[in-house]
Amino acid sequence: MTRTQRTEPSLQWWMDQQHALTVPCPDPTCRQPVGEPCVRADGQLLTGPPAHGNRLRDADRAAGVPHPAPPAPARKVVDAMEPERLDHHQRPCSHCRAPILWARTDGDRLMPVDADPVADGNVLLTVERDHLRAGVLGVNQAAGARDRGLSLYRHHKVSCPHADRWCRSPRTTRRSTRR
Ligand SMILES: [Zn+2]
Ligand SMILES: [Zn+2]
Repeated sequence: MTRTQRTEPSLQWWMDQQHALTVPCPDPTCRQPVGEPCVRADGQLLTGPPAHGNRLRDADRAAGVPHPAPPAPARKVVDAMEPERLDHHQRPCSHCRAPILWARTDGDRLMPVDADPVADGNVLLTVERDHLRAGVLGVNQAAGARDRGLSLYRHHKVSCPHADRWCRSPRTTRRSTRR
């Protein structure tokens, strides 16, 4: 498997892919399960489109989006103006008692996120059915999200005064990309 450094995809591409990952791919050459990005017939990750077209259509249907989809992002982006949708994801930090949201990352790990958005955040929260998902954005994606007026959040380790008690240093986790 070649692992080439690709340029950061646009925010829209990334959001479309996240949206597609909410359903399995129906494409007979792909059939990737929920959460796994589309692959080509040769097993390589799909390049170009964010997912197979019929998968995007299925994801739109599952989300109740009429087809053809409107230009707005089909995934419901969590907005700070809708606190009631976030309430049941919220728990106090067991170390500092600050309100935090627990969201799942693409690797299906739980990530604690400060409950309030911040101006320099890099985590985009989306609601997928009843699940809160956290997407960690690259610098350009975060800038694009801010340009759209989206609220961005940050990992609770940035603000927790007791982060050293529960958060392993980035040095030890950086290479933990094994499944
Ligand atoms: Zn596919
Ligand atoms: Zn804390």
